[in-house]
Amino acid sequence: MTTTERHEFQAEVRQLLDLMIHSLYSNKDVFLRELISNSSDALDKLRFERLTRPELGGGGELQIRLEADRDQRTLTISDSGIGMSRDEVVRNIGTIARSGTREFLDRIKSTRAGEVPPELIGQFGVGFYSAFMVAHRIELVTRKAGEDGATRWASGGDGAYTIGDGERAESGTTITLHLHPEDSERALPDYTDERVLADIVKRYSDFVAYPIRFGERTLNSMKAIWDRPKSEVKEEEYKEFYRHISHDWNDPLRTIPVKMEGTLEAYALLYIPARAPFDLYSPEMRRGLQLFVKRVFVMDECKELLPPHLRFVRGVVDAHDLPLNVSREILQKDRQLQVIRKQLVKKVLGALDEMKRDQRDQYVELWSQFGPVVKEGLLSAEDRDKLLDLVLAPSTDRSEQLSTFDAYVSRMKDGQDAIYFLTGPTPEAVARSPLLEAAVARGYEVLLFSDPIDELWLEQAQRYKDRPLRSIARGDVALGSEDERKQASEALEEKRREYGDLLACLRVHLQDHVKEVRLSSRLTSSPACLVADENDLTPRMQRMLAQLGQALPPTKPLLELNPGHAVMERLQRIFRESSADPRLGLYAQLLLGQAHLADSGQLPDPAAFSEALTELMVGAAP
Ligand code: ADP
Ligand code: MG
Repeated sequence: MTTTERHEFQAEVRQLLDLMIHSLYSNKDVFLRELISNSSDALDKLRFERLTRPELGGGGELQIRLEADRDQRTLTISDSGIGMSRDEVVRNIGTIARSGTREFLDRIKSTRAGEVPPELIGQFGVGFYSAFMVAHRIELVTRKAGEDGATRWASGGDGAYTIGDGERAESGTTITLHLHPEDSERALPDYTDERVLADIVKRYSDFVAYPIRFGERTLNSMKAIWDRPKSEVKEEEYKEFYRHISHDWNDPLRTIPVKMEGTLEAYALLYIPARAPFDLYSPEMRRGLQLFVKRVFVMDECKELLPPHLRFVRGVVDAHDLPLNVSREILQKDRQLQVIRKQLVKKVLGALDEMKRDQRDQYVELWSQFGPVVKEGLLSAEDRDKLLDLVLAPSTDRSEQLSTFDAYVSRMKDGQDAIYFLTGPTPEAVARSPLLEAAVARGYEVLLFSDPIDELWLEQAQRYKDRPLRSIARGDVALGSEDERKQASEALEEKRREYGDLLACLRVHLQDHVKEVRLSSRLTSSPACLVADENDLTPRMQRMLAQLGQALPPTKPLLELNPGHAVMERLQRIFRESSADPRLGLYAQLLLGQAHLADSGQLPDPAAFSEALTELMVGAAP
């Protein structure tokens, strides 16, 4: 038998209590989360001990009980867990063993009272002491599993505690809080009210693996399915859980369970939705995963766990080694979290790749919903190779099906070294762009892109594996093998000699609008097209940047004319008769307008185009 003794708290604990009582947190509800999490840990420990010490098997059900007394204003949290010996109580509750406590407190002291920055709080798990935010006195009675006596601990949070013998029929811990009076001004709800308690439990502790009871009622669902082996979970359960966390009525397209072991322990359950949310492109989109620490809810919409280009992925992450009150500020720098994030990205990209291989139809559907978002990831170099492998695009060879880069490469013609692509404002506009004509006529396949993001990432990616990506809307496209290219350029050279003077004349007419008028090797049926100079932005990219408010020195496009087109012969005839014929200027206007229409479906100067057209019609009338 030992008698009741009075102990002083360790200096650090006193300081911490002081902070706690003068409220570090604005959200006082978290005290219950902390105490329940401790009980859950204690139950885990008992369950584990029983594996090797069956004699601990007696006792009651593994559970956590809440009891409230409205008149006495007490709230009791008790568990049938492992309990503590007297020494353990002194060690665990009277001192803070955690390293860095001193440093933490020093840093807090050096900031002015009431201005404790949240990132400091986040570094520190405050646990048990947080109960002093809501209680002026705390009593704890605990009995260690396998031992006879119980220990009783009590404190008013005033720098000292008493410790002595207690009474407890079975192993476990009972904590009684003598609550502050209810006070709406200090944001202190009535913690004896069943509804208030049920609410907090639902919010923070729903998935705790043991029943949390209030009277006859169990307040939590206990249904954490993320740490159960995949083989034991029914498909329907996964779907049910998805609906629970996503508020989406549809089934998910894919479920991705993740288990990490080794240097850190974490579980995740990720889902790829079947449909894009309406706000996928809005900065206000609710995104991010739910973060748990050992089944205790910590944070909603945790954006730090996945990069923005995977923002459509829903799910939960349960990281076992993070502190419960980790803040967003901490998460951004936390090394563990970086490791977890890397793993999650790897898993998601792996799952997408698998779907692409094994469930093509579903993948095509997924790509139509989320492809443009995934492609945002191609703007950075991280994971670029993996992301490039996920890209699907229509191509000139396969009008119905979408192609990957890999499949494109496997179909490339002998002697073709680059991957040809074309970007445009809509799928229809790219598919019928005149820029494709020569390539298609000569049997070269071109990948077609029409999402706004495409032009940007294609610019940056530059190559797929060892193949350069080459826009056929830019510079001199040199299609085909070296031999073919040589032949083509000789033929073009000859045409250039033939049309040289005419081209110079047209250039003079259009000098305000284009950089150059030249003959094209890419057209077979259209008379004209616009292209960008090798190092200039394409016309579409210029428009896009202009929309973003990026003022750029305007770069003029090049107008390319089809040397094989009948319109060239007609122009040549007019030009030979008189190089001053006003029709030459009108034709030039129309060709430029047509090229603009083919490029964007829009005319930069509709009035001028219309006027030139009318003049030609009137002039051509007999
Ligand atoms: P943490 O949970 O982060 O260790 P706490 O301040 O919440 O910090 O708890 C301190 C310690 O007190 C725990 O590590 C545990 O050893 C002990 N403890 C607290 N509550 C219980 C309980 N209900 N049953 C058994 N041990 C407990
Ligand atoms: Mg704790």
